[in-house]
Amino acid sequence: MKSWRLLFLQGFLRYTVAHCRFVRQSLSNIVNRCQQNDTRWPNKNTHIFGFILFCSFLFFWEPNDSPGIIQESPILKGHPLRRFHSLAATAFFVSAVLPVAAQTPRTKPVTDSEVASITRDAILIDTHDDITSKTVDGYDIATPNKRGQTDLARMKGFLGAEFFAVYVGAEYVNGNHSANRTLQMIDTTRTDIIAAHPNDFVFATTADEIVAAHNQHKIAALMGIEGGHAIEDSLRLLRDYYALGVRYMTLTHFNTNNWADSQGDFEDTKVKHHNGLTPFGKDVVREMNRLGMMVDISHTADKTFYDALEVSTAPIIASHSSCRAVSSHTRNMTDDMIRALAAKGGTMQINFDCAYLSQRYSDAAKPIMAELRPRFMEAMKMEDPVARDAAIEKLQEESTAKLPPATLADVVAQIDHAVKIGGIDHVGIGTDFDGVGCVPAELSSYDKFPVLTRALLEKGYSASDIKKIYGGNLLRVMRAVEQHARELKSTPPIESNIGK
Ligand SMILES: [Zn+2]
Repeated sequence: MKSWRLLFLQGFLRYTVAHCRFVRQSLSNIVNRCQQNDTRWPNKNTHIFGFILFCSFLFFWEPNDSPGIIQESPILKGHPLRRFHSLAATAFFVSAVLPVAAQTPRTKPVTDSEVASITRDAILIDTHDDITSKTVDGYDIATPNKRGQTDLARMKGFLGAEFFAVYVGAEYVNGNHSANRTLQMIDTTRTDIIAAHPNDFVFATTADEIVAAHNQHKIAALMGIEGGHAIEDSLRLLRDYYALGVRYMTLTHFNTNNWADSQGDFEDTKVKHHNGLTPFGKDVVREMNRLGMMVDISHTADKTFYDALEVSTAPIIASHSSCRAVSSHTRNMTDDMIRALAAKGGTMQINFDCAYLSQRYSDAAKPIMAELRPRFMEAMKMEDPVARDAAIEKLQEESTAKLPPATLADVVAQIDHAVKIGGIDHVGIGTDFDGVGCVPAELSSYDKFPVLTRALLEKGYSASDIKKIYGGNLLRVMRAVEQHARELKSTPPIESNIGK
């Protein structure tokens, strides 16, 4: 071995020993990220890194000294590029160290102005808010909502777009009132929220309209139906809802309907299940693709999720679901589901319900909820909606007071897990505000999002990562769904019905 090579080897070994712990950490970080398909370390860099690593090793060894395949390699014999080996080795370190450094939790303090500018510039899109269940009974969103999370004062300046839930309870199936309720929920969004507050909300149905509203400092108001029974087994109704502005539909709520299994009653043997989606259910997904309505699999049984993912020719979403590996509730998604959703370009939107966020809370809640269930059932039967909501809220407060609350750290842990499994391009926010009994106190409304921005920055997320999580990823999915519908424009409407 020539002396300059020995010198280089010596330097290499010294560097490695001196930075042994750092190198070991860096390498295990790289291996972990590769195994978890973590796109926070962009794939392009992975390839560049691999290429440079390969070159540095090729150039590092003198062919005559090295064994086996390298010795035989015709590429190396007298190749002029070999003289650049030290340059390549240096590049190896730079390429290895830079991306790793970018991932490690930052030590530089996060400033208030940094938090403010990222939160302001990001278009925060919440894909699920249930305040419509109150506005439909007369609540004005401009008045303070003392018990809940959603009101205009706390949305303004923080929220870019809201998907108001067109939530249709399972009770409307009896007597075929689901369509009637759906239309009332659409109307409360359009009349009581958007039309009543034209300076604050703007009706939107596309990704471009969300961006335009953000530029005008208004909140884009969109709609997503929750509960596929809303279409009363009719693709005509599905098309009507699209025409009225609905841009996603959750295939089921807690109830299995005539064409899709729900997670909520999956163990109830009295309910007729279908093993996922029926042939008509698959047509519902196809018609949603054709229209340009996002397919939402929150609340569905796992098999329904996989069926929808297989049938859909556009990316799909989970509008308000968290990770089952972090909190084992079946409303949450398994790692395998997260990977599959991400592979198809979709996004999962982290739900802020304490039980979905935190295993600790979920475990403690089970016996308490079992104890309170008879009183909840009594309250649900109350005729007067105002008295009913007050009774339910009182019971929720009673149960929440006895439980270890979920925290900001739980939200960060959920986001972090979703990012590790699905990648930074496939995670978003679906708070479920005003639809759940408990959310972390530190994130009790939209005006608290700077706290989350700070926590994510401290965890090592970049400004661009945070903007993707807050809304960039959802905009990408919307655009893909819109584009796909344009491509299917000449395809005729699907005319199948539940009987076929
Ligand atoms: Zn829900």
